[in-house]
Order: sequence, then C-alpha cells, then structure tokens
Amino acid sequence: MSRTKAVILAAGLGTRLKPLTDRVPKCLVPIGGRPLMDYWLDLLAECGVHEALLNTHALAEQVRGYIEQVNRRGPVRLVESHEPKLLGSAGTVAANPGFAEGADHVLIIYADNLRDVNLRAMLEFHCWHGDPMTVLLFRAPNPRACGIAELDERGRVVGFVEKPAQPRSDLANAGVYAVDAGTYRRIAAMGRFDFGHDVLPAMVGQMRGWMWTGYHLDVGTPQAYERAQKDVATAVFQGCVTVAKGLRPAVFFDRDGTLIEQVHYLSEPGQVKLLPGVAEAIRQLRQGGYACVAITNQSAIGRGMISESDLQRIHAEMHRQLAAAGAGLDGVYHCPVVPRTDDRTVVEHPDRKPGPGMLLRAARDLGLDLKASWMVGDMISDVATGRNARCRGSILVQSGKGLSAEDRQAGLEYQTLPDVPAVARWIWGQDRTAGRLHTAGSVDR
Ligand SMILES: [Mg+2]
Repeated sequence: MSRTKAVILAAGLGTRLKPLTDRVPKCLVPIGGRPLMDYWLDLLAECGVHEALLNTHALAEQVRGYIEQVNRRGPVRLVESHEPKLLGSAGTVAANPGFAEGADHVLIIYADNLRDVNLRAMLEFHCWHGDPMTVLLFRAPNPRACGIAELDERGRVVGFVEKPAQPRSDLANAGVYAVDAGTYRRIAAMGRFDFGHDVLPAMVGQMRGWMWTGYHLDVGTPQAYERAQKDVATAVFQGCVTVAKGLRPAVFFDRDGTLIEQVHYLSEPGQVKLLPGVAEAIRQLRQGGYACVAITNQSAIGRGMISESDLQRIHAEMHRQLAAAGAGLDGVYHCPVVPRTDDRTVVEHPDRKPGPGMLLRAARDLGLDLKASWMVGDMISDVATGRNARCRGSILVQSGKGLSAEDRQAGLEYQTLPDVPAVARWIWGQDRTAGRLHTAGSVDR
C-alpha cells in the first residue's frame, strides 16, 4: 500500500456561521457531539492516512488544544501550520513545500463540509490511472456558483472554470484532491493563492475526475448546521459517516463473464481482460449516481488453488485496466467458500452467492440502498443473489456462461441483456421513465 499524507484546509473564518464561530473555530463546531474535524479524521484513518497538516488562523489556541488531544489518541497525527494572515488554499501548500517528504501521495481536503466520501476508492483510482492528480467531483444543482470541470471519454479533465457564466457541465469541484508527491512539490513551487482559480486551470489535461454522489453538506450557514445535527442524529456509523437519508443506489456486478472475460479458475493477473465497453459503462453509471461494486465467488481460494494475495494481484490488474479508461469501483467483495452441491440457487453460506451476505456488507460499508440497487451477472446464482438481497431487480448478461435449461426453470425473475454497456443504457432508461433523482447524470450514448 502506498504512503499517503493529507493537507486539511481548515482555517476558514466561518463568517456565515456567526455568532457560533465567534467562540468556536469552524473546523471544531460540534455536530452530534463531536467536532466537525473528527469526521474527517475518521475518513482519513479509514484509508490509512496517519499524518496530516492542518492550517490554523482564527481561534488558533483552541485548534492547538484539539491537535494535542488528537495526537494523544491517534491514529492520525496532526501537524499545525499557522497562518497569521490567510494564505489561500494553494498558499497553504506553497508554505509547506516539504510536507510531501516520505509520502507517495498527498490528499488535499477542504474540511468545512460534512460528507461520507469513500477516500479509499478515490485513492485507489488515483494510484491506478497514472495521471498526476485526481479531483473529486459532485453534480452541482447550481454550476454557476461552483468550479466546473469538463471530462473527456476517459474521465480526464479537459476544461476547468471557476464560477463559469456559461457552464459546460454540472460536474463541480468537491474540494478533495489527490496528487502524487512530485505534483505536490510542483504545485507548492507555483506559489499560487487558490486551487480553483489558479492551480486547477493549470492542471487541465493532467488530472482525472472521480465522482462522489453520496452524502455531502456544506456546513456553512446556520440552516445547514442545523441540518447536519439532524442528519448525524439519524446516521448509521460504520467507520465512515453514513447518513440514512444519503443512502445511494448501487449496481452490483459479478466479476467473471460480466466485467472481465470468463476464464476457468482465473489465477494470473495476465489473464484479466476487461470486456468491451465495461469501463465506460461503469464510469457512466457512477456519474449517474450509482455506486458500482464487484461481488465475486472465489472458491479457488477455498480449494487452495490461489491465495488471498494472488486474488489481490488479480484485482489490482482489474483496477488498473478500469482506471486507464477513467473508471473505478466503489468496492470489491469476494467469498472464498467452496460449494458442497452443484445447485447454484441454494444458499450454502450467507456470503457465497446466491447468499446475500456480500451485498449486505457492501450496503453497510458504503451506505447503499439495496431496494434501489441492481444485481448483474451471467449465472443463475447472480440472479438469485439479487432476489435474496431484496434488490430492485436482477439482470442476466449474455457475455459469460449463461443459463442451463434447468436454470431457466428455476422460476426466477430477471431482465436479460447482452452485456454491461447494455445494462447501463437499460438502467438509465428505467430511471428516466421513473424520473428518479439520482440519474441527473448522462448515461446516454
Ligand atoms: Mg460470472
């Protein structure tokens, strides 16, 4: 695993939150009894970040006290960078050019909002796509008020304008960047003030966009602050803040014969071959608001034919091929259990498909709404998994093994489509008919 540090931009004055921010620095306003910063530290700890730089300005003494507390309890160690005069988002990086020392990557985060972003999935995508920078994007209802990115068909940012009069898309800068250490030093050397106005336009053509459609709230006004309290009170805590009303729909994909070519007991990364159009379909589904998760039975592990680390190498190759095409998965779940019978519609173990266990776990980890989600695969066990997890429906793709005559008599309901690109188009069509909110994105071709 690569070493990642973080720069947390937390010195904003919180003017709109006055009078609360007269007494408490904005990054420490209590939400559900915890300082806002705690939620970010949870997210960082969860993706293996153990060192972060935090800038301070107003009420710096209080933030210093907090830093001491955090450094006593761990696991993230905070380093203060005091700014007697605010330096701007890029200015904080310019003032700390040596911070990337000892790291492979640096996350740069605007901490004045509450969200449950899966930083690990974003970092994985960043590590695999090979461009120097990744910018987190969300679909903005008011693009003229945001920094707007334009992406090409490989998810590369080919245009970026801060608060454009004529927005070219609704994909907005969500204030989380991942950069490699060399790029961090390059940005520091630019000596600029602001990321949105100065740095991002200069990085066009060298960065990819990563969509986030989960919970997001700018805790900038008294109304938003009140909402944050309510949301967190109804949250389900699973490592990251998963807010009940922020639950997302997902598309769960079987791996072999669905995402990648069917190979009997695939055992080498060299055998991984993404099926045509899969990366683009996943990118479009994620832009349309769906989390995309791979769900795979791996009895080859239980049989001793491959090890867990062999599987990690195989999945790394799948991530690499997806990232090269600008796509990534929100999660990959596998089950090593060996089946006892040939009947693929019988649940032998809760995690092994057709058992719903892997989907239930993904739903808890990632804040997914199973009732709004689809299960996609090439076998009857995949179809049955969608039913057993009480998904919105199951989709059988014809790009893999297919069904036996016996499977067809199993009496299961499913939609049959040729392949994953057809699935993306079909889901988009379903949602357009139903007028669902999370499909503000374009999955059209
Ligand atoms: Mg399969």
